Amino acid sequence: MALAHNLGFPRIGAQRQLKQSLEAFWRGDISQTELQQTGAALRHQHWQWQQQAGLDLLPVGDFAWYDHVLQLAQSFGVVPSRHQSIEQPLAQLFAMARGTSNDTGNAAALEMTKWFDTNYHYLVPELEIDQGFSLQSSSLIEQVDEALEQGLDIKPVVVGPVTFLWLSKCVGEQFDKLALLPQLLNAYSQLLQQLNQRRCGWVQIDEPVLSLDLPESWLHALVTSYQQLTAEFEGRVLVANYFGGLADKLTWLNQTGVAGLHIDAVRAADEVQAIAIQWPADKVLSIGVVDGRNVWRADLSAALTLLTPLHEQRGDNLWIAPSCSLLHVPVDSDVELELDDELRGWLAFARQKLSEVVALTRALNGCQSFTDRALFTDSDQIQRQRAHSSRVLNLAVRQRCHSVLPEHLQRQSRFGQRQLIQADVLKLPKLPTTTIGSFPQTAAIRQNRAALKNGKLSQPDYDAFIEAEIADEIKRQQQLDLDVLVHGEPERNDMVEYFGEHLQGVAVSQYGWVQSYGSRCVKPPLVYGDVARPQAMTVRWSKYAQSLTDKPVKGMLTGPVTLLNWSFIRSDLPRAEVAQQLALAVRDEVADLEQAGIQIIQIDEPALREGLPLRQRDQQDYLQWAVGAFRLSANGVADSTQIHTHMCYCEFEDVIESIATLDADVISIEASRSDMTLLSSFIDYDYPNAIGLGLYDIHSPNVPEVAAMVADLQRAKQTFPVEQIWVNPDCGLKTRGWPETEAALANMVAAAKQSRTAI
Ligand code: GLN
Ligand code: ZN
Repeated sequence: MALAHNLGFPRIGAQRQLKQSLEAFWRGDISQTELQQTGAALRHQHWQWQQQAGLDLLPVGDFAWYDHVLQLAQSFGVVPSRHQSIEQPLAQLFAMARGTSNDTGNAAALEMTKWFDTNYHYLVPELEIDQGFSLQSSSLIEQVDEALEQGLDIKPVVVGPVTFLWLSKCVGEQFDKLALLPQLLNAYSQLLQQLNQRRCGWVQIDEPVLSLDLPESWLHALVTSYQQLTAEFEGRVLVANYFGGLADKLTWLNQTGVAGLHIDAVRAADEVQAIAIQWPADKVLSIGVVDGRNVWRADLSAALTLLTPLHEQRGDNLWIAPSCSLLHVPVDSDVELELDDELRGWLAFARQKLSEVVALTRALNGCQSFTDRALFTDSDQIQRQRAHSSRVLNLAVRQRCHSVLPEHLQRQSRFGQRQLIQADVLKLPKLPTTTIGSFPQTAAIRQNRAALKNGKLSQPDYDAFIEAEIADEIKRQQQLDLDVLVHGEPERNDMVEYFGEHLQGVAVSQYGWVQSYGSRCVKPPLVYGDVARPQAMTVRWSKYAQSLTDKPVKGMLTGPVTLLNWSFIRSDLPRAEVAQQLALAVRDEVADLEQAGIQIIQIDEPALREGLPLRQRDQQDYLQWAVGAFRLSANGVADSTQIHTHMCYCEFEDVIESIATLDADVISIEASRSDMTLLSSFIDYDYPNAIGLGLYDIHSPNVPEVAAMVADLQRAKQTFPVEQIWVNPDCGLKTRGWPETEAALANMVAAAKQSRTAI
């Protein structure tokens, strides 16, 4: 009998209950006991749903208050000294996650970074040269006890030692992290002993680093780790890999003695057959056949065709699962009642995916229920429907994509020439000042948006409100004497969702939230069909803003690659093609803005670097089509129109050539938090176009001092021609309040003016 299991369930709650409770707790509105009750209720509910779906083994340990990597670090005693004085474990956990500040000083949070190529962020454990590891109170064990009390068939889940070490960072004196492996393994041994005492039959140890290019020393570490852990654990160890392939590491894994291996059969579909042959038949092979990174119903018949021969070969040793933890998808598509039935029928969020896993397993085992069969019939029908639906296939869009020519990606003249023409039309001072687009999203803005949604405010009244906001924001910018103004984005709830709402082929869900970090969730749009732009999306607001001032107002768009990387994308078309369709839609908007008299247009691409594939061999290809998509969206304009782009914080070193190839007239980047070190990639590369220096950190309410910004500008002037330098904050201001925003911008403008006179 094949077995159905799951690698992890979304922890945030179908109605984002964890988010609400966490934030209420941080505000001091609820007690720790109340917060813990929410956690327990969510775990209980999630196990119940998974059990009802018919899974044989439920994952336990996937719940975390903020982040599972952080939680594991804390349970091994990997706590930076600045947070060690906090004794209460939960308070300490939140201090590590969010930082603390009090009279005695500040203790910064751990650094946060992306979990592989997902939009989930984990907190980076900090290791010192003499780092000790020992098991403290463990949230995993607590969750295991709780689940066992509820009489559930469980499989504890934990991030593995190789991944933990790889993702951690060295602080203080530099050293080889692998030197810490023996001590780290001792902590894992202590954890496994606790599981031995509880007679756990299986443990799932996640090693997603197996999807990366790993140096050989790390593969040795893999073998050492699992030889030790399998010897110490009395049950059996399932090593779980996801987000990519691991065929290149199979001979190493074969030496480890692990009893089971989970592979991502969606991302690495081409490896399944080879692994099925090479992985011993007396060991468990778990096939992650239901896509845990996307939201579409699986093609169950195709999956069954893949699995049937594997089941004949392996029998009991075949397990079926989603490709990865379901942390990366929303909870339940059945509640999306605002979507039409057809589209809703195409969706499978976490709960639906588990039904698919179970239906497949039962089909293999020859014990399908009526509902399992219905799921197969539906799935076949949906595949046919989607293949022929006119809302998926838009011939005009396809034709347009076919007729894209290299010259469509090309500006008319080179940057040097454009720069002269633009200087002539725009007549900006040296070191021009601007902002990144959004201004504070005030309570009034949110209230009006909500009122429009629930029908309490009419569209014309809402539009009038937005215009009044824009007028107010233009006035404030003029008083601040900024050089290039923005309309402030009051009409946008989110820089991706707003465009999702206006594009054809894209839908927006109501509850499709996915955890991004801590209590922060995102609701990615669903790109289900060919993308078209039925009408202008932003022109009205930009044009109105421009009508109020003689200064140039910068148009503000989200770029095609960011729209792509921050959405759930259809799986029946290569990503590169979806990117091209999005690019054409943005290109049309750019053209309309230009037509409406907007002389400067910013196309934000904060997620361009984020989409970089995990394996080096795939990266060039991605960069090529991603850069192509940006160029297609941006480069249809006249020389006199100035294109800006914005990238937030990102490591530019390995992608600087691609960034330069974007050929944006101005790129704004973060420069303050990294102490201007991000700039070094641009300096080393001799970056030819203009750069907007993110002179202060918008993530903090602190008002930056003029002198500090003058000093930064001074340094920049020593390395860049002054004509190439712009002055701006490091990101949009939507999360800030007005008082600190105005104070900070006033100082920024003052710094620019002072620096001008020194030229
Ligand atoms: N224009 C957007 C804003 O100002 C950019 C946001 C971002 O880069 N993440 O909010
Ligand atoms: Zn930004």
